[in-house]
Amino acid sequence: SSDRVFNFAAGPATLPEIVLRKAESELVNWRGSGMSVMEMSHRGKEFRSIIEKAESDLQSLLSVSSDYVVLFLQGGATTQFAAIPLNLCESGDDEVDYLVTGSWSDKAVKEAQKFCKPNVIWSGKSEKYTKIPDFDSLEQNSNAKYLHICANETIHGVEFKNYPVPKNKAEILVADMSSNFCSKPVDVSKFGIIYAGAQKNVGPSGVTIVIIRKDLIGKAQGITPLMLDYKIHADNGSLYNTPPCYGIYMCGLVFEDLLNQGGLVEVEKKNIRKAQILYETIDKSGGFYRSPVEKSVRSLMNVPFTLEKSELEEEFIKEASKEKMVQLKGHRSVGGMRASIYNAMPLAGVEKLVAFMKDFQARHG
Ligand code: PMP
Repeated sequence: SSDRVFNFAAGPATLPEIVLRKAESELVNWRGSGMSVMEMSHRGKEFRSIIEKAESDLQSLLSVSSDYVVLFLQGGATTQFAAIPLNLCESGDDEVDYLVTGSWSDKAVKEAQKFCKPNVIWSGKSEKYTKIPDFDSLEQNSNAKYLHICANETIHGVEFKNYPVPKNKAEILVADMSSNFCSKPVDVSKFGIIYAGAQKNVGPSGVTIVIIRKDLIGKAQGITPLMLDYKIHADNGSLYNTPPCYGIYMCGLVFEDLLNQGGLVEVEKKNIRKAQILYETIDKSGGFYRSPVEKSVRSLMNVPFTLEKSELEEEFIKEASKEKMVQLKGHRSVGGMRASIYNAMPLAGVEKLVAFMKDFQARHG
């Protein structure tokens, strides 16, 4: 509606208005239950129907096979940085491999250092995290328990377009998909674990989704806190303790909406179109706008860019905000601008942004 802005935030991020309206209509009295989802017992039949539908809709969206379990957890993707080594390594002496393609995979490896022996087999740091390596030239450790990647670096805007084959003995690939989860079809069978915070593409903050291959469950180190042990959550259908009920409900509404749009094949087409017009505007600006990221790995979700005349950046953000395009400031660690254009950002939002960018350039170029 006219009083909503185009919100380019990296997360928590914009949600589909249709989903917010539906939640609004059901807020006070969920489907005749006489109460809101926030007030329900997580063990009652109403909430069970909500979580079961959310799970099965997500399974449909990603064609998740019965070899995998979907978990709705808490603690954000950050908690998974610890849970993964705790569940996949037998002891602190086990080796694991990490590709460091940006700030998030860097944080993941630093947390893993507390629970195992991670090898950084490639880092893009010296090139300011603008690249993804050629997989054939990677030297993976055969005794590593898993290979970890961040499929989309939210801050640096680099996205894997395909995935390395894990050459470790266990053949396990683990991916942080926080910022491109459900933005395109993914072959889940290539991964041992996929995890994502919900607050970018699929819901509010407070829900962390983990999709894990069943044979990897039940091997956590003895010191693993209960809440980080995948087995506890898998055995209890994500209802071991009180889950983030309302957040799971919202994710369920988003999954329903994604299915209604025709599933992830259709969603990806829209995302490609949006990213295309934005990158094109940057590339055709004659250097007025710049994207630091190597073209082949530019993210469809997070588009960082700078102005050649960096002194104009503040003005750019201020003027955009006046025109109801908000949260365009780049992450404090890299500066510049960043437009996050997740699933729920409509094409109209990106069209408005590129029209503004062209106009801004005409006035200041
Ligand atoms: N990984 C990625 C790729 C992220 O973008 C984020 C959040 N911005 C995180 C991990 C951390 O997620 P959370 O805040 O849910 O712990």
